[in-house]
Amino acid sequence: MSYQHIRMPETGSKITISNGKLTVPDQPILGFVEGDGIGPDITAACLRVWDSAVEKAYGGKRKVSWCELYMGEKAAGIYGGDYFPAETLAAIKELGVAIKGPLTTPVGGGFRSLNVSLRQEMDLFACVRPVRYYSGVPSPLRKPEEVDVVIFRENTEDVYCGIEYESGTPENAKLAKFLREEMGCEFFEDAALGIKPISPFGSRRLVRKAIQYALDHNRESVTLVHKGNIMKFTEGGFRNWGYQLAKEEFRDRIVTEEELWDDHGGKMPEGKLLIKDRIADITFQLLQLRPAEFDVLATMNLNGDYLSDAVAAEVGGIGIAPGANVSDDVAVFEATHGTAPKYANQNKVNPSSLLFSGVMMFEHIGWQEVADLINEAFVKVMADKTVTYDFARLMDGATEVSTSGFADALIAKF
Ligand code: NAP
Repeated sequence: MSYQHIRMPETGSKITISNGKLTVPDQPILGFVEGDGIGPDITAACLRVWDSAVEKAYGGKRKVSWCELYMGEKAAGIYGGDYFPAETLAAIKELGVAIKGPLTTPVGGGFRSLNVSLRQEMDLFACVRPVRYYSGVPSPLRKPEEVDVVIFRENTEDVYCGIEYESGTPENAKLAKFLREEMGCEFFEDAALGIKPISPFGSRRLVRKAIQYALDHNRESVTLVHKGNIMKFTEGGFRNWGYQLAKEEFRDRIVTEEELWDDHGGKMPEGKLLIKDRIADITFQLLQLRPAEFDVLATMNLNGDYLSDAVAAEVGGIGIAPGANVSDDVAVFEATHGTAPKYANQNKVNPSSLLFSGVMMFEHIGWQEVADLINEAFVKVMADKTVTYDFARLMDGATEVSTSGFADALIAKF
């Protein structure tokens, strides 16, 4: 495929995907989008760290060929005002793996969120957020080392679908009339109305991904998080379809919590994955009080949005939490924080969220040695208390460094 502004690197070759399995060459082409605001600062720092870790791990035998792709303000400059160029989407599809910095979204008007557009256009139906503790990172918990969860948030359904009718509009009046007169519903006059679609298809493919991940990574349990006690057919449906899918497609490898007690006397059989479910509100509480009880979590869009940030706050906040949006064919890794415009071009912020999104990316392509090197170097740098401003203000005796200085400190530990 030929592109107008994107330059595919001359060295390196593309990753191929067949039946969900990646074939990764020794010099894969990976896409990156720098992002807006603090995006250029953190991307430049991370590219140096990633390349250096790859070099250290494989001594030149493997190497990434980076391909810059454009979205957001940089794209608008290059493509005559187009913030979301079609060829960027095409290139991400062609490469199958990309990483991106944050992108600006105007509040209450302007163009639609580029992140939401990207997820919808490419049907990136699962948002994956691993949240774990790194020794030395400031945390409000007494035992932060017990936090080690991976949240799978459904990305395409729920109240986020945008099926909403503003109070006082003819569309709202039409729907309200139908609901009152034909469905016997009762609600206050002029209520704004929203629809919450949760489907078997959407629920099953998300739970499938979560279970497959848990099996591939030797995790102990998958918890389906829902408010099915109140929203019986939507959130309750998610729970029921999740259990159904687990039994239909993973029968030999899983045990449900009910089976654990009915058939196994509460003792987990060797080598099996536990599938359980919890109500969302108690999950929020337990993730603070007894985080060790959770491992992989699978949930719908709204619960997942809140849960991801709440858990991330327990172990260092959004400056460090990584994430990815994935389908069966494409994975886009991304910093989970925004563009923090007040810090743009100051070489000041923490690059760790993007850095660890890169760690996820290297794990995704099977380059575990690179991921391990970065994780180990990070712990050493934390032990030295060499940190960016956000952690420095939470630590006694820290040495505050810039974004690029933090990258240098990591590289020095390889
Ligand atoms: P934000 O950019 O995440 O920044 C909020 C605050 O979080 C910052 O002021 C800073 O806190 C802290 N922070 C964020 N990134 C940090 C980092 N790398 N290191 C250290 N601290 C960091 O959220 P926002 O101000 O609400 O949003 C700004 C823009 O980003 C909006 O246009 C929004 O739509 C967009 N956004 C994009 C994404 C995405 O692309 N995935 C996600 C969220 C928001 P202190 O002020 O306390 O230092």
